[in-house]
Amino acid sequence: MPTAPQDRDRLLLAQYATAWSHSRGRLREEPPPTYRSEFQRDRDRIIHSKAFRRLEYKTQVFVNHEGDLFRTRLTHTLEVAQIARTMARALALNEDLVEAIALAHDLGHTPFGHAGQDALNECMRDFGGFEHNLQSLRVVDELEQRYAEFDGLNLTFETREGILKRCSRRQARTLGELGQRFLEGTQPSLEAQLTNVADEVAYNSHDVDDGLRAGFIDVAQLREIPFTGALFDEVDRNYAELPPRRRIYEVVRRMIGIQVADLVESSAARLAAAAPQSPVEVRDAAQSLIRFSDDMLASHTALKRFLFHHLYRHYRVYRMAEKSKGVVRALFQAFFDDPALMPPQESARARSLESAAGENGRARVVADYVAGMTDRYAIAEYQRLRDPLHLT
Ligand code: MG
Repeated sequence: MPTAPQDRDRLLLAQYATAWSHSRGRLREEPPPTYRSEFQRDRDRIIHSKAFRRLEYKTQVFVNHEGDLFRTRLTHTLEVAQIARTMARALALNEDLVEAIALAHDLGHTPFGHAGQDALNECMRDFGGFEHNLQSLRVVDELEQRYAEFDGLNLTFETREGILKRCSRRQARTLGELGQRFLEGTQPSLEAQLTNVADEVAYNSHDVDDGLRAGFIDVAQLREIPFTGALFDEVDRNYAELPPRRRIYEVVRRMIGIQVADLVESSAARLAAAAPQSPVEVRDAAQSLIRFSDDMLASHTALKRFLFHHLYRHYRVYRMAEKSKGVVRALFQAFFDDPALMPPQESARARSLESAAGENGRARVVADYVAGMTDRYAIAEYQRLRDPLHLT
């Protein structure tokens, strides 16, 4: 006899975990899946979405064509899911839910990473702005079109809540139940809290690896930061003659392992002290219960600061970012000025949203179209639009 999802929940989850029995359900009710839990179904819908496949060709920090070994949005996403699942299982939280949130958390990212988002946000300044968290929600709520009975993926409230990591009060007012916690200052589920930190653990660690590979940061700099310095010391003590790349990998795996262990242990202690009896009580806590210890938080923040100054602001990352912004701006402007330059489905949407919501509607369709592009598609579109000899 296969085990029913609700029996698995009862056996495996802590009382404060988000069991399906506590879910607020889907926007549109659907018959329950047979063998999977509802959160597994969310995860599977995300994996089968178009936006998920596009993550492969979207920038994390390094633009896709800069090298095959750098993280892309997709491999970043998989690393977040891996880290989040480990921590969820250790804390008896809902592993299916954290996996769904992790796999969807970056679906709304533009081509060219944060530079793309900033450029699109500038273009949308007079039309309601652009923000990637909200865009991820738009992708799963509206833009994916693959089911006969509804637009979007019709995901559960809990997965959608986890995707919407941040939100302004102004936006929150437009989001109904989902926006409430930003207005009331309450917490999301533990699974959402955990995936949020898993994202940071993932990028802090893999950006060190990618930054070293690119030669934009070096080992000498990392030795000066107490957290990574101690890890290099430990690796060098144990393995005197390690080839450079293996030495780096040994440091990076320790970075992930130590942060994960700290997060699991300090969160377990906080949960034991607060003793929430249900996932509902978790939401009323004054702050997130899934947190690093104070020491680890300090190390984590110092590393973030280092990466900000030395990697994300490195002149070559900056140069690529500025060039990418030019591409995004040019695409937005061209399509906004003449929506008929977009493929028929998008230009028809632009016409219909424009008649419903004026220029804001037209701009939103253009932003959706540009945000959905992969890096290489955006570059190809840019070239097609500019080159008079390119006749398609
Ligand atoms: Mg991320």
